[in-house]
Amino acid sequence: MPKLFIPGPIDVSKETFAAMSQPMIGHRGSEFERLYASTQPGLQELGGTTRPFFLSTSSAWGVMEASLRNLCVKKVLTLCCGAFSDKWFDVAKSMGLSAEKIQVEWGDAIAPATVRAKLEEGGFDLVTLIHNETSTGVMNDLVGLAKVVKSFPGVLFVVDAVSSFSAVPIEMDALGIDVLLAGVQKALALPPGLTVFACSEAAIERAKGQANRGYYFDFLEFAKNAEKHNTPSTPAISLIFGLQHILGVIAAEGALNRYARHAANNALIHAWGARHGFKNFAPAGNQSVTLTCFHTPAGFDQGSFIKTLKAKHRFVINGGYGKIKGLTFRISNMGNETAATLNELITAMDDVLE
Ligand SMILES: *Cc1c(COP(=O)(O)O)cnc(C)c1O
Repeated sequence: MPKLFIPGPIDVSKETFAAMSQPMIGHRGSEFERLYASTQPGLQELGGTTRPFFLSTSSAWGVMEASLRNLCVKKVLTLCCGAFSDKWFDVAKSMGLSAEKIQVEWGDAIAPATVRAKLEEGGFDLVTLIHNETSTGVMNDLVGLAKVVKSFPGVLFVVDAVSSFSAVPIEMDALGIDVLLAGVQKALALPPGLTVFACSEAAIERAKGQANRGYYFDFLEFAKNAEKHNTPSTPAISLIFGLQHILGVIAAEGALNRYARHAANNALIHAWGARHGFKNFAPAGNQSVTLTCFHTPAGFDQGSFIKTLKAKHRFVINGGYGKIKGLTFRISNMGNETAATLNELITAMDDVLE
């Protein structure tokens, strides 16, 4: 099979697959409780929190929608700067919630001052942010935005760190993030199907007063079960074995080394782009370190570049997402990649360009 350098799902190592293919265990027994408990210190370190991490057998959207259902009582403000963040607004509307958005051009980042001005209008009790907008390669200023949101008491802050979690430091507790969520098929380099998330005490308190939370995505069910190192319903146990494995790999490398490796690998792709005159779609200062989104230059046959790279070298990159499909292309450096594996990709891309 060709190797994926798309921004999720990404390449999964043989060792991870091997860890996932252990004999099945029951999810209401001590083996599962030990498995669940073993994931907590690693996830808490990556998320900068002492709060328990919940394991949701769903893709990220399950928890993104659940955050709205559990926490939006009055009105949600969605910060929109690309495909995933724009859709969060649409989802809020489709649930019948009162919702407003701040919309910036795709390729731009959300400015904290704009958020402050909007929240000053009043009436909001929830803000959603995509930390790393995977469709545009923009990494938003999480620290600056958190500071603004936290200065409005009663406004909870939900952060999608799907394509940044484990690749950059995230300090949930210090920043006052109320829900931090990440799908495991991005920088954690697991197969899709599981989302990890943590909730602040304030988020749990808010959920208590919320009617119609349902069952599968009820934050209070997750919290109650987490006390016994368990999940509300039967989880994707094999994926949790995979999670346990990858957290061990991360601990062995060291989180700080992992962050530095992502930054260094991303710089290799930036340098490759600069050599060929490919311009970054994201502005300097807000460029993701887990993927790179390039403008497609006029006259460059992006489709045949991507096709030949796959046919000849068995590497897959992505041809843009949503309304900038074709106008941009994206290369991921998330997960287990090294300078050596990225240089293989770069050599192959150079060969195709010649
Ligand atoms: C991939 C992605 C999602 C969607 O994840 P699913 O697993 O498809 O639900 C959401 N947010 C961001 C930032 C993503 O990169």
